Amino acid sequence: MSYYPASVQNLIKNIAKLPGIGEKTAERLAMHILRGSRQEAEQLAQSILNVKDKVKFCVRCFALSDGELCRLCSDPSRDPALLCVVEQPADMVAVEKSGAFGGMYHILSGALSPMNGIGPENIRIRELIARVEKDQVKEVVLATGTNVEGEATASYIARILEKYPIKITRIASGVPMGGDLKYVDQVTLKRALETRHAL
Ligand SMILES: [Zn+2]
Repeated sequence: MSYYPASVQNLIKNIAKLPGIGEKTAERLAMHILRGSRQEAEQLAQSILNVKDKVKFCVRCFALSDGELCRLCSDPSRDPALLCVVEQPADMVAVEKSGAFGGMYHILSGALSPMNGIGPENIRIRELIARVEKDQVKEVVLATGTNVEGEATASYIARILEKYPIKITRIASGVPMGGDLKYVDQVTLKRALETRHAL
């Protein structure tokens, strides 16, 4: 790396700060940027600055948005009685891509993790309760992760929302399509059996 001039070293260093990018990949990307046109470099730099300047959180569901309300919250064809609770904006995108959900979302911006000092006040649970109280929510679908934190978050929310006259459901998780049972871990298989349904 020290064979490069300081400006190139600096670019490699900054690219390597991105998650999942090691020094070798950072070097390769830096070389790619160097070979490209000035216009391409400007577009990349500008698009990074744009998301920092323009993107905010939707005031209702906390999805990433260019305006006060995100595209989904402003869409009259979505069912406001159905609320899907996810941890991160990327989870919402994943559920949307499945095409299996026509309701609204609530993004917690994290999951409960006492080990890391993340309690209910650190994620958007208060805002979720407010929505259940004032919007016409009939069902809350808990689509937090199926890891320890995600499960703990789902149980906590289910308990908090118990007193409201709404249906609380949890996404089923199980054997992946095309999966071979012997490669599925025990927790997944246990859940798959618990959430089995009639054929
Ligand atoms: Zn929204």
